[in-house]
Amino acid sequence: MNIHEYQAKELFQKYNVPTPGGSVAGTPEEALAAAQALAGKTIVVKAQIHAGGRGKGVFKNGFKGGVHLADSAEKAADLAKSMLGEVLVTHQTGEAGRLVNKVLIAEGVDIKKEYYLAVLVDRETKAPVIIASTEGGVDIEHVAEHHPEKIIHVGVHPLAGLQPYQIRTLASQLGFKGDQAKQFGVLLSNVYKLFLGADCSQVEINPLVETPEGRILALDAKFNFDDNALYRHPDIVAMRDTTEEDPREVAASEFNLNYIGLDGNIACLVNGAGLAMATMDIIQHFGGTPANFLDVGGGASKDQVIAAFKIILGDANVKGILVNIFGGIMDCDIIAQGIVAAAREVGLSLPLVVRLEGNNVAAGLATLNASGLKITSATTMAEGARKIVAEVKAAA
Ligand code: GDP
Ligand code: MG
Repeated sequence: MNIHEYQAKELFQKYNVPTPGGSVAGTPEEALAAAQALAGKTIVVKAQIHAGGRGKGVFKNGFKGGVHLADSAEKAADLAKSMLGEVLVTHQTGEAGRLVNKVLIAEGVDIKKEYYLAVLVDRETKAPVIIASTEGGVDIEHVAEHHPEKIIHVGVHPLAGLQPYQIRTLASQLGFKGDQAKQFGVLLSNVYKLFLGADCSQVEINPLVETPEGRILALDAKFNFDDNALYRHPDIVAMRDTTEEDPREVAASEFNLNYIGLDGNIACLVNGAGLAMATMDIIQHFGGTPANFLDVGGGASKDQVIAAFKIILGDANVKGILVNIFGGIMDCDIIAQGIVAAAREVGLSLPLVVRLEGNNVAAGLATLNASGLKITSATTMAEGARKIVAEVKAAA
C-alpha cells in the first residue's frame, strides 16, 4: 500500500524526522487558510498523487509542474486552484496521469544542497538496506545508471539493527560534518525506527536537504508498506486512498483475491501464485498477452470465484478467459459452480477455456457440462493456453 506525501509527513512528525510544517487542502479556500497559517514564510504548494516526478510533471490542461513556490497566501491559493481537479502526468504516472484531489501547503525552505536517502528491503539479502547519495532531487534511477559510484548502499542486519558506526560512515560519505553529521544521524536513526515500526517496505526521501542555515530536513517522502503487516496498523490502513488505485484491484481486495491488473487481453483465473505466474508465461509463450494476475487461493469460496469472474469481465480489454485450476486443496466443483453462476449473471459472451485438474474434478466437469454454457475444455496447461490464444485471435 502507498500513501500520500502529506500522510508520510504526519508519520515523520510522529517519529521525530524533521520536515517542513504544513497542512493538506482539498479546495482553494482551504489552501488559502492553510497558507495564511504560514504567514511571513515562503510557501510551497505540492500536488498530492501516489507518484513521483511531480516537480517536472505537466497537467493535462497545460499547466506546468506539480510543485510550486509562492510568496503570498493568495498566490498559494491561485496555484492550488490551477492544480486541484486537474490531471497531472509525470514520468511515473504513465500517459493517463493522476487526478489531483488534494494539495499540500507547506513551509517552503531554501535549499543549499539536495541529497537522496532511502530505506528499503533488499530482495537479495532479504534484509533492510540504506541507499544514499549526494545526487538528490533528481531521478535516482538516472544516477544509478550513469553514476553508480555515487550511490551508497549500507546493509543492515535485521536483528542487530542500524549500528552507530554505520551512521557515522554514511554521514561522512555524504560529506556531513559537525552539527550536520549529528542532525543526519538522529534523522537516519528515526527514519529507520519508522521503517521498522510501521512495517514499511520502502521509505524514500528525495530530496533530503541542507538549508543555508544548516538544518537537515526531509522535503519529500514516498512510502510503501508491507501489505501482509497492515493488520497491525489500523492508523495506516485509514490512510489508504482507493481513488489512487486500479479499481479492479480495489474490488479484488474487498474479496481477498490476489489480483494485479495488466495490459493484455486474456484474463486468467488460477489457484496458487506460482501456477498463476506460469499461466501468464504460457499465454505469452503461445503468442497471447495476459490481462491480469489472479490467484484465487487454495480455499476459495463460490462467492469469491463469482467476484473474481466479475472483476475479470468488468475489464473492457478482456477478449477471452483462461481458467487454470489444479485442485490440491481447492475443490474443482466449487470453481465450476462459481464460473457457471457468474457467467449466467453477467451473460458471458467471450471465449472461455477451462482446464480443471485434481480434487473432485469429475464433479466440476459435470457441473460445467450440465450448464449449457459454451466452454472449451482442456486437459493440460499448454492445450488450454493454445486454445484461448487461438479463440481470441479468431474472434478479433
Ligand atoms: P517530486 O518531483 O514528486 O519528487 O516532488 P519533490 O517534493 O521532490 O519536489 C521536486 C523539487 O522541487 C525538489 O527536488 C526541490 O528541488 C523542489 N522543492 C520542493 N519543495 C521545495 C521547497 O520548499 N523549497 C524549494 N526551494 N524547492 C523545493
Ligand atoms: Mg522528490
